[in-house]
Formats: sequence, C-alpha cells, structure tokens
Amino acid sequence: MRWDSQKLSTDDANALPGLGRPAGLVRSVRTPGFADMTFHEVLAKSALNQVPASSEMPFHWTINPYRGCSHACTYCFARPTHTYLELNAGEDFDKQVVVKTNVAEVLERELTRPSWNRELVALGTNTDPYQRAEGRYRLMPGIIDALARSHTPFSVLTKGTLLRRDIPALADAAREVSVDVAMSIAVYDDELQSTVEPGTPTATARLATVAAAREAGLECGVFLMPILPYLTDSTEQLDDALRRISEAGASYALFSTLYLKPGVKPWFMLWLQRQHPELLPAYERLYSRGAYAPKEYQADLAARVRPLLRAHGLERRRAVRFEEQSRAAAPTANAHSRGVAAGASSSPDAAPMLF
Ligand code: SF4
Repeated sequence: MRWDSQKLSTDDANALPGLGRPAGLVRSVRTPGFADMTFHEVLAKSALNQVPASSEMPFHWTINPYRGCSHACTYCFARPTHTYLELNAGEDFDKQVVVKTNVAEVLERELTRPSWNRELVALGTNTDPYQRAEGRYRLMPGIIDALARSHTPFSVLTKGTLLRRDIPALADAAREVSVDVAMSIAVYDDELQSTVEPGTPTATARLATVAAAREAGLECGVFLMPILPYLTDSTEQLDDALRRISEAGASYALFSTLYLKPGVKPWFMLWLQRQHPELLPAYERLYSRGAYAPKEYQADLAARVRPLLRAHGLERRRAVRFEEQSRAAAPTANAHSRGVAAGASSSPDAAPMLF
C-alpha cells in the first residue's frame, strides 16, 4: 500500500493526505472483537478539511476521523476514495479502515488558531463517524468537546446507533453551540437492509436512536436516502417509512434518489446481480446516461414524496439555520471533502453528496 511507508522512521513524499511525516506512526490492528476488520492507525497532520469553493454544500469545513466504513453500503459514494490508498473500493473499503487516532488533539490546535472563524463543521459527510470502529477508538467525544469549547457550530450525520453513547455530550454541546444531528435511514425492510448495507444497524434501531436524541432535546432529522428504484420507491413504502420517521419524533426528513457515480456503479450492480437479477435491465436503463436517474424519474418521485412529507409533518422548517451561519463567514475553500449533512436540500440533485 502507498502508506506502508508511513511506519515509524520513514519519510515518504507520497504520504496519505493528512498523515504526519516522518513520525506518522502507522499500526495495523486486527482484533477478535472486530472479525475480518483491519484498523490502520495513523497520525493526522490536520483534522479540518476545507470544502472546495466550487461546492454548493451549505458548509465549508468537514472532519472525517475514519477512512473506509464497516457499514459497507453497496451504494456508498465514498468507495472510490479508498483507491487513493491503493486499496480497492469494494471489500477493502468495508474492512480496512484508516483511523486518525490523534484527530481530536489536532482539531483542538486548529480551533484555537486566531484565523479560525467558527464556521459550521460537518461530520459524517464522507465516511461514518459512528461506524463500528468508533466503539473501540472513541474519537467523537474529544471532537465534540473541542468543537463545543471553541464555540464552533457543527452537524453530525450517521447511520450508527453508537451515536446514542454521545447523546449527553451532544446535548451539552448544544447548550453552547448550534448542533444538528441527522440519522441516515434508507431501507426499512430488514431483509433488504441486511444485504444492501450489511454493516448497518436496522431501521428500527436507528429510529430508536432518533427518538433518544429528540428526547434529549436535540434536533434530529432523518435522511431518507438513497431511495432505491423499484426496491424502496413505491408510494406505500415511502408512506410507511415517513410514518415511522414521524413516530420516532424526527425533526424533519430529506430524500433523494440513488446516485451511482463511476467507481460505485460496478460494485452496486454486482450486488444487484446477486440479489435482484430481475432488476438489472431496469437499472441499466435508468443509469445508462450517467450517475443520476433520469429527470422524469426524479420528478415523479418528488411529486409523490412531497405530499407525504407534508402529511407526516416532516418538512424541514428550520432549513437554513446552519446555511446562514456558514455562509456568513464566507471562507475560501480548497479541499477534498464531498458531502452534506443537516443543511441538505431535498432536491434530488443535491443528494449525490450524501451517503
Ligand atoms: S454510505 Fe455512509 S454509512 Fe454507508 S458505507 Fe458509506 S460512509 Fe459508511
């Protein structure tokens, strides 16, 4: 791997971005509690990633404590980023996770710089901060604490029920700064969920986490995305999903259609071939012209979902709180992060940035 040479006392100009050199200790760990997983512990040089200026995302800064994700969603748009590490975008993405073990300390230093404008920071926009590794490494409590103490507003997007562990810390932080939490729940059928995103908790468990966050007084929305054509997109399925989201007390719901960018599409299509071969021709037709489903499909979906959002009281009323804060500070940007959290639009075109 490109970053094998990040081991102690090496100095490689091709270092993984964000790694320290030459003292960027890399230790690869396998442990019985995490069968089939390898954690590559690294020392990061930076914690805050600046979002490219051209991005339309409603934030300019992100933090990604992990690279790779054991939630293993077949449609995950972040998969190709693993190839930069000379790992593959398939199983390696799911099972070989890079852990920035010093991310909280580095972040703390960055937040105390006089130049830091306390702009919104988004977590969970590229890989999931509450994936299973977080149970072992506990990086999020330090990150939350550093952000709150520096009066930096932040958002957290996750599929992980481990979020529950940090609800008290998030609620404390929310007394100091704006904190927006969102849970991503795309699939409400357990059987389908266990194959298309095999490392994730069930929808029921995630909804219970939403309820716990709301009971603690946190804002917590649900990202109903990606909606999978012919698998989760019937009006009945959408109505049922939104009813359950509403019953969990979610603050709002956002939706979007499946986005299959190059590097992700082959992996997803392999899954489809294994699990739903009868849908292959339909998907080939839908995604024959690119990564997006055709506008007609998206328009039809939106026309069916929007009335349901209204009916279930899940329209986002507080939509631009973070966007206003973020844009007020107007930084220049130049970084690698793609993603969006709580400020997302329900526009289908905004969705590809989401996991
Ligand atoms: S979509 Fe999110 S939760 Fe799923 S594998 Fe990618 S980063 Fe992890």
